[in-house]
Amino acid sequence: MIDEEQKKFYPTKKLGQNFLHDQNIIRKIVALGDIQKENDTVIEIGPGLGALTTHLAEKAKKVYAIEKDKRLLGPLEKAFKDYSNITLINKDALAIDYFEFAIQNKLKLIANLPYNISTPILLKIHENRNLFSRVVVMLQKEVGERICSPENRKSYGSLSVLFQNYFDTKVNFKVAPEAFKPKPKVDSVVIGLNPLNKPRFPVADEKFFESFLRTAFSSRRKMIRNSLSNSFEKTVIDTALENEGVDHKRRAETLSVEELVNLSNEFYKLNE
Ligand code: SAM
Repeated sequence: MIDEEQKKFYPTKKLGQNFLHDQNIIRKIVALGDIQKENDTVIEIGPGLGALTTHLAEKAKKVYAIEKDKRLLGPLEKAFKDYSNITLINKDALAIDYFEFAIQNKLKLIANLPYNISTPILLKIHENRNLFSRVVVMLQKEVGERICSPENRKSYGSLSVLFQNYFDTKVNFKVAPEAFKPKPKVDSVVIGLNPLNKPRFPVADEKFFESFLRTAFSSRRKMIRNSLSNSFEKTVIDTALENEGVDHKRRAETLSVEELVNLSNEFYKLNE
């Protein structure tokens, strides 16, 4: 059924349309969602031709499938006709207010993301993290590894710190391009994110923290003292680094999540 629709459909690169056809990967993604029939409302961003959606609907109480491409609505309605618990929504997932789906319970977001907008979608998930009990997403390997990376790796950056302070993060498994039609040019990973009840390390001001991280990681090869000098006075930088016991020669990628949170809080205090 899905294969027949796939033959007739011309995927658009612009919308990240690489459709999953490996049944084993589909089964593994659904299993990672740990979906409970009695309670769980699942959000799927980009159902495509429905490869994941009906499997999610078998397990969940309710599935909201959000698809931007109008051309997919006909095939999807056909594929979903026997599933009264799927609601198809033709909207841009970046423009949706997820609060309206979380009236009774927290949501589970399970999706093979459109890779071209995976970072903005992740930031939207981050911003709305109190609405979600679990997030399982497939995305390009580099972005998935960045989210979950420990410090002292090339992959460690502001996204790693931002996510790891508010979520338990895990790269669950890798997926080769052969699992998709058409094959993407990049490798993929499936990651799991569990929002924490409270941040791992308390943050004085979230907006300040986000912009502090962007500045700290803006020139990765530079010492932290120099990368921060675009945004802060030299005397403030020296005082903050000294108060937090951070050697000014260190680079941002050597600093742990805890050190970066504490440093950001110190700069926030000195900037007030
Ligand atoms: N879930 C399907 C699968 O695994 O075969 C399709 C995944 S495909 C990687 C990404 C899907 O997201 C496509 O169907 C694409 O049309 C849709 N999409 C792209 N941008 C979107 C957006 N801003 N909002 C909602 N859906 C979007």
